Amino acid sequence: MPEKNELLGKQVKVLDKGWIELQDMMGDDLAIVNAARVSFLGESKGSEADKKLLFYLLRHRHTSPFEQVEFRFRVKAPLVVWWQWVRHRTWHVNAQSGRYTPFTENDFYVPETWRKQSQDNKQGSEGTLDPAEAERLSQALLAHYEQGFVLYEQALAAGVAKEQARLFLSGFSVYYIWVAKVDAHNLLHFLSLRMAPDAQEEIRVYAQAIYEHFLKPALPWTAEAFEKYVLNRGQ
Ligand SMILES: Cc1cc2nc3c(=O)[nH]c(=O)nc-3n(C[C@H](O)[C@H](O)[C@H](O)COP(=O)(O)OP(=O)(O)OC[C@H]3O[C@@H](n4cnc5c(N)ncnc54)[C@H](O)[C@@H]3O)c2cc1C
Repeated sequence: MPEKNELLGKQVKVLDKGWIELQDMMGDDLAIVNAARVSFLGESKGSEADKKLLFYLLRHRHTSPFEQVEFRFRVKAPLVVWWQWVRHRTWHVNAQSGRYTPFTENDFYVPETWRKQSQDNKQGSEGTLDPAEAERLSQALLAHYEQGFVLYEQALAAGVAKEQARLFLSGFSVYYIWVAKVDAHNLLHFLSLRMAPDAQEEIRVYAQAIYEHFLKPALPWTAEAFEKYVLNRGQ
């Protein structure tokens, strides 16, 4: 496992202008095992027995020991991701305010590909548009952002408050920054829902970044058990 210090402050790029950074964390796999062993006032019994216990806990949904580990992330993502993220009530979040902070011309998400509407999942997508059509749409989106941004700046110049001037900006695609704290149990729940194939790709790439770059190196036993019993639904 990398040193905790190697993970703290690490920033991973996501989407075209977003990122996720680990600001702080508390605990490790052993903290989970030791929390479970407090039931009989015991502690570590060596790594083989410790790992076996952790797998037992996750498999049998003895979840509270996983709440002993906490992560705090700083995230930059489009608002469409924010709205899905904050449905998870077990996260503690604080966000940038468009009432205080003016937006810049570069604060908008431009997708790399345009996905087609799924035929059998009304919420989902499948396949992508052909490159020429995709390029036409990307140019149209950029023009749309530019026009909205010009109107936003005109409203600010006319003396309109930032809280109202932002009505001219594209509500789903503007990038926001937030700080979000969660314990490992609820993070695994979030990842199980948001790494799933039916989650929207824009949030799925953040969930995957959390899993690969932060949870897996910080809690390798937990990640292994999660893959076995949750992602792969094995017994
Ligand atoms: C693919 C997908 C599509 C979705 N589509 C929609 C949609 O169309 N419309 C929509 O509104 N939402 C939608 N959602 C959001 C979804 O309904 C949940 O709100 C979101 O996934 C958070 O899940 P959660 O409540 O389990 O997580 P959390 O809020 O993190 O809660 C974790 C767990 O804690 C417990 N819990 C937390 N708070 C309470 C509480 N107040 N009362 C009882 N138990 C609680 C529950 O057991 C819950 O599972 C979608 C989510 C996904 C993944």
